[in-house]
Amino acid sequence: MGLNMDFAAVSTVSLVFLVLIPLAFTAGPLTGHSVLRVWPAGEKQVTLLQELLSMRKSLDIWKGPSCATCPVDIRLTPFEYDDVTSSLKENNFKVETMISDIQHVLDSQRRDLKYKPKAAVFDYSKYHTLDEINAWTMNITNVYDSMTSVFNVTKSYEGRSLMGFKISTPSPFARSAFWIEGGIHAREWISPATVIYMVGQMLDRYKIDPDITTLVDSFEWYILPVTNPDGYAYTWQSDKTRLWRKTRSKHGLCYGVDPNRNWDIEWSKSGASKDPCSDTYCGPKAFSEVEVKGVSDFLRNISGLKGFIDFHSYSQLWMSPWGYTKKLPKDFKQQDEGSAAAVDALQKVFGTKYEHGTIANIIYTASGSSADWTYGKIGVKYSYGVELRDTGKYGFLLPADQIIPSGQETLQALIGLAAYIKDNS
Ligand SMILES: [Zn+2]
Repeated sequence: MGLNMDFAAVSTVSLVFLVLIPLAFTAGPLTGHSVLRVWPAGEKQVTLLQELLSMRKSLDIWKGPSCATCPVDIRLTPFEYDDVTSSLKENNFKVETMISDIQHVLDSQRRDLKYKPKAAVFDYSKYHTLDEINAWTMNITNVYDSMTSVFNVTKSYEGRSLMGFKISTPSPFARSAFWIEGGIHAREWISPATVIYMVGQMLDRYKIDPDITTLVDSFEWYILPVTNPDGYAYTWQSDKTRLWRKTRSKHGLCYGVDPNRNWDIEWSKSGASKDPCSDTYCGPKAFSEVEVKGVSDFLRNISGLKGFIDFHSYSQLWMSPWGYTKKLPKDFKQQDEGSAAAVDALQKVFGTKYEHGTIANIIYTASGSSADWTYGKIGVKYSYGVELRDTGKYGFLLPADQIIPSGQETLQALIGLAAYIKDNS
């Protein structure tokens, strides 16, 4: 047997494997990426953990330290895993794996994008692309054209429209306004999905369900499903980009600003990074992001704005200002009673538990956030930042079968909060 023949035989075998292996196991960009939950055992360990994290700037922190014993969630690449886990174990941290393989979760959740439902049918139980969400906006405002009107806040950095709409029913009285926004952080897909579901119900069940009818009639509603369209579109590009959080503006070698650290209130003071590569980069200046500046200008021009909610995920928290300081604002009592009314109503639906309190006290100090600005700069007393489902089992990768339950319970929260605001204005 000549060498050449052996080589040919080996080559054939290799070829067969080359063809077969990808069928059996396709590694994706997030294969072997895991999410680790770390439990600090007191203030000392929190400080130590913060030091460990600051030494590894590339780590993707899903949930930062928020109290002496609150869990911290970190995504690790396979290359980081051994190093980080051994250093945590050396320092006696309690460690738990929340997600062992992110790629596996993504693969199991993948939506067939080739499937295009008929225009009139919108499947609320699925996550949708930006184009699909904008098409839904156009469609639902056509169907309910007597009570809705579309608005464009501004164009994003990459030229996409920040498309929202207003719901206003005939009323002999001037009413207060209420702003609801989703998708300011790109990877938090449950946020736009929950907003869309709730608003769809508000329109479809108006004059059918008495609670919803009262809710709709109580305010003039302004809805912006996707506040950060460039970031959101980017998370739909590929598995590799699914976990993007920021905008997509360019700053040196890195992209994006955290749009919830970019508002012009106590900007860059605490809980925000000045490093353009950080996930919490506050930007080169306050309102550097056209999306954030555009929304703030729009909000300033809404007369009688009394309610504001910026939906995020995850952690199940209903939070009021301030974010930049642990000091309580003068309206805290009413703001927090509003939160309590919301979470009590929410829990009655499926028993889902939310905590409430100020942003700084319940998670961590973070300056330049939306709710601080709407309250502190334009006087919207009932301003909230809400962290939707879950508490970390899936984190940002919440399965689509939780969209409708999340929408149903959050809609009840909104009904509870709106009733409280109406009685306490
Ligand atoms: Zn967020």
